[in-house]
Amino acid sequence: MDPRSATDSIGRRIRALNERVTSLQAQGLYFYNQPVQEILPGMKVRVNGRVMGMYASYSYLGLIGHPRINEAARKAIERFGTGTNGVRTLAGTLTIHAELEETIAHFKHAEAAITFSSGYATNLTVVSTLVGRGDYVFSDKLNHASIVDGCLMSGAEFRRFRHNDMKHLETLLQNAPPDAAKLVIADAVFSMDGDIIDLPKMVELCRKYNAWLMIDEAHSVGVLGKTGRGIEEHFGLGNAIDIKMGTLSKTIPSVGGYVAGRKELITYLRHASRAYIFSAALPPAQAAAANEAFKVILDEPWRIERLNQNTQQFIHGLKSLGLDTMQTQTAIVPVLCGEDEKAFAMTRECQLNDVFVLPVVSPAVPEGLSRLRATVTAIHEPQEIERAIEAIGQAARRVGIL
Ligand SMILES: *Cc1c(COP(=O)(O)O)cnc(C)c1O
Repeated sequence: MDPRSATDSIGRRIRALNERVTSLQAQGLYFYNQPVQEILPGMKVRVNGRVMGMYASYSYLGLIGHPRINEAARKAIERFGTGTNGVRTLAGTLTIHAELEETIAHFKHAEAAITFSSGYATNLTVVSTLVGRGDYVFSDKLNHASIVDGCLMSGAEFRRFRHNDMKHLETLLQNAPPDAAKLVIADAVFSMDGDIIDLPKMVELCRKYNAWLMIDEAHSVGVLGKTGRGIEEHFGLGNAIDIKMGTLSKTIPSVGGYVAGRKELITYLRHASRAYIFSAALPPAQAAAANEAFKVILDEPWRIERLNQNTQQFIHGLKSLGLDTMQTQTAIVPVLCGEDEKAFAMTRECQLNDVFVLPVVSPAVPEGLSRLRATVTAIHEPQEIERAIEAIGQAARRVGIL
């Protein structure tokens, strides 16, 4: 027994969560944190000794393990070793960091770019560096947790608009003092739903109300636009976003986050954002891998075409079985289950049929909207996608969703 009393609420919270995990494990309904033993060709993985089709990966273009990218990482290790032993501002900056930032700027049609050690840290630090007490920040209700945390940490007036509801955003902008500093933020592609933000309208509103616009492209780089450059290319908007944020951990098979934008903005962030100044630089191998990956995307446009075909096949197949894939238009494909337990049961049935999908439940999504969150990539084979659609359909009939 823990000697602390029953009024110890930290202990109580920890115990409650542990009980929930243990109970799910006992029922065979716990699927998080499963180690992947091996990554196999064609988006297959070995988990618990079984080969499964992987439908939970963010490697949208299938770049993980790409020979050119692996080779770039190896060379960087030979040249620079495995760590940076310091922050960018002092001894941590290597030529590979400068090259990577130039590559990102070029890819995003921006003047300059800055990198951080994760996408999460990027949102936290960028939002809280740009706005503070007395300023206003406007955020979509379904924005990623890292944006929400950045807004809270900033101390700015935090206004949340209904998901993708530009009328509501406009009302909130109108209600803020005209001369207050304003920042509007949204995901380009929403990470739990797969739908796309109404960027053209958002750009118009930001201009009308003198607000800065920040877009998180975690799930749109390599996914949207003919050449995979993201949401501006998708809408044919040119340079419309002030703060183009993205991660190096999804389509780009590395780790880290970035912001691309005007040179002045990047210089400012380099000298004012705490995650840049007080946290170690990206390891050389990861910077080199990311740098090469952006080049591979431009050199191998077939991957984007295949991703689009596979996305259409997957969504269409699931819908024609009568499943609810919500508003998705991209490679993130939710399959609505309802209650948490239904989503867990669906997961078990799918994994028993060698389809690796995972459930997303509250509080990550609203209660009653628990779902499987399946993702499809450029390198899934069409027959394999067909097999997965059938397996998901069968699972849905077993647990009573269909
Ligand atoms: C994954 C994700 C992040 C965080 O990126 P990491 O590089 O994994 O820290 C930020 N925003 C969105 C929308 C994401 O999906």
